[in-house]
Amino acid sequence: PRKFKIAVTGSPNDRAVTRAHDIGLRMIRNEAGEAGFEVIVGGGLGRTPMIGKVIREFLPRADLLPYLEAIVSVYNALGRRDNKYKARIKITVAENGLDEFRARVDTRFRHLRSHFRGADQAMLERIERAFAPPAFRSAPLGRYETVRETDPAFRSWTDANLAPHRAEGYAIVTVSLKAHGATPGDATSGQMRALADLAERFGHDELRISHEQNVILPHVHRSDLPEVHSILGEHGLATANVGLISDIIACPGMDYCALATARSIPIAQEIARRFDALKLEHGIGELKIKISGCINACGHHHVGHIGILGLDRAGVENYQVTLGGDGTETAAIGERAGPGFPAEEIVPAVERLVHAYLDLRSGRRETFLQTYRRLGIGPFKAALYPERVDANAA
Ligand code: SF4
Repeated sequence: PRKFKIAVTGSPNDRAVTRAHDIGLRMIRNEAGEAGFEVIVGGGLGRTPMIGKVIREFLPRADLLPYLEAIVSVYNALGRRDNKYKARIKITVAENGLDEFRARVDTRFRHLRSHFRGADQAMLERIERAFAPPAFRSAPLGRYETVRETDPAFRSWTDANLAPHRAEGYAIVTVSLKAHGATPGDATSGQMRALADLAERFGHDELRISHEQNVILPHVHRSDLPEVHSILGEHGLATANVGLISDIIACPGMDYCALATARSIPIAQEIARRFDALKLEHGIGELKIKISGCINACGHHHVGHIGILGLDRAGVENYQVTLGGDGTETAAIGERAGPGFPAEEIVPAVERLVHAYLDLRSGRRETFLQTYRRLGIGPFKAALYPERVDANAA
């Protein structure tokens, strides 16, 4: 295979975009309560975006390695080699059909399974030891509650940047690398040292990088959060915007990438600055904007609620908008809205979309994506291209 990417999620909330990978694995339980995997195959973004299809609804854990080997083996036998853009499993599944692909995988799997002597238990134990849960502690939460009541900046940060933890008293902290107007996803050496210190002092030595280009401290006791927030603030890392309109994924685009057809980073910076100035982003709620600087789609624009793709039109940057994309368990490829916009018009176009959403939503709890799914692309197109509506009315 030319390149091959596998994504795994252990949560019903898919935070690993499993449906846009060559193979996606969702850990689930069957009716008997046994743990296993839903196996998804043939997803991918890039120039031919496709949502992966479920090839196996429940695969017992013990079958995982031979089953994955069977998938790769069938892809190796059937996959295209005449055109490098077609040398991806998503093309193989689409051209042969899921049923035919599945039948071949099943045949190959039966052969491989009969010869498989089980996963290397010593290696599995080493991995399990490396990911053993830390020694959780208990502590009073009085100060956390008090600071939440008295410090609006802290409350706003805890509302936006925390996720529930399975251990009592703990939280999962997402440190936003999306300060308004800064390069999305960038951290200085000083900020990285500060994050490493925080992980050591408050996070059981663990931090992770998310595909949304933020840093996660997976185990922080809530009693430590006021201090963590204060230290993050000293390093410019306390932005309270996770999942909001300024939490944008942008690829390097023309600022760094030799393949780019347009800039991504300055567009992301301008959108973040604009909505910060309007003081609207918390009122807008969850809205994912993703920007790519060429059709390779490294910025995942196809699965952005609002996707922006920078192209080159006769030497001039032009930005195409897609709407309704989704990278979660309800994954969808965004629909192209219409003609692109020059660089100076793309941020006003996004603003029109957002104001349309605020007018159209059924209430504050209905997200942009839910409104889009309820009403379809029509009213959003009308907001994006008001001159067309005027012309039709005339
Ligand atoms: S999407 Fe294009 S411009 Fe952006 S990083 Fe990928 S190859 Fe480069």
